[in-house]
Amino acid sequence: MFEIDEILKKYNKDQKINYDQILLDVIKQWQKNNVKPKIILHSCCAPCSTYVLEEMTKYADITIYFSNSNIHPKEEYQKRALVQEEFIKKFNLENHTNVLYIEDEYQPQNFIKDVYSKKLEEEKEGGARCSFCFEMRLDRVAKKAVELGYDYFGSAITLSPHKNSQVINAIGFDVQKIYDVSYLPTDFKKRGGYKRSVELCNIYDIYRQCYCGCVFAALDQGIDLKETRREAIQFLEEFNKKKEV
Ligand code: SF4
Ligand code: SF4
Repeated sequence: MFEIDEILKKYNKDQKINYDQILLDVIKQWQKNNVKPKIILHSCCAPCSTYVLEEMTKYADITIYFSNSNIHPKEEYQKRALVQEEFIKKFNLENHTNVLYIEDEYQPQNFIKDVYSKKLEEEKEGGARCSFCFEMRLDRVAKKAVELGYDYFGSAITLSPHKNSQVINAIGFDVQKIYDVSYLPTDFKKRGGYKRSVELCNIYDIYRQCYCGCVFAALDQGIDLKETRREAIQFLEEFNKKKEV
């Protein structure tokens, strides 16, 4: 298991930690020991998972855990879950891989209740509400990792340029303290990860959402949630029609 205190000793206070370099060092260890670990990674829609799967399936057995009770409305949640699952199916077919997909329960009322009880509803995107949201989801994935016997838990969302990898990794190590499973530090946006994810989204024709997920950030951003819901319903209906043919 990684000891974050040991890692931090190598950095000056206020110095950014290079989580991508830490991941590369960990991968080197796997290769040296000839092991292919079992890793469960949180993802909140397909785009971040594209590059992450392309990169990580070279070294490990990967499961994507869709645990996102923060996403609003329900139909948008269902659309993102479906796109994620379908992408994994296509990825496996094209790359002869066996990436697994697991979907958590959708419990938006818990997320909303917690945001209000912690008085986080007015927070701007990237602030304290997002830290709580990352923690909620990393906690769920760590719990699942222990339940199913994975070697590591982590998240694909360090790929997003809108997500602060320093914050996500620090939370990941905090969550690791309460579960008997290692957190996998990452910063997938490094080494051209984000650019490659955009290319892969085009290749696989993947839906890319225009807001992070929660109702608070969506309203702040001026997203028309009625229209979002209508488009999601249409998407799901068309998918089901195609399946029946
Ligand atoms: S961070 Fe954004 S793009 Fe990445 S998986 Fe989450 S919602 Fe999708
Ligand atoms: S903006 Fe995104 S990360 Fe932040 S609270 Fe909302 S859904 Fe969670």
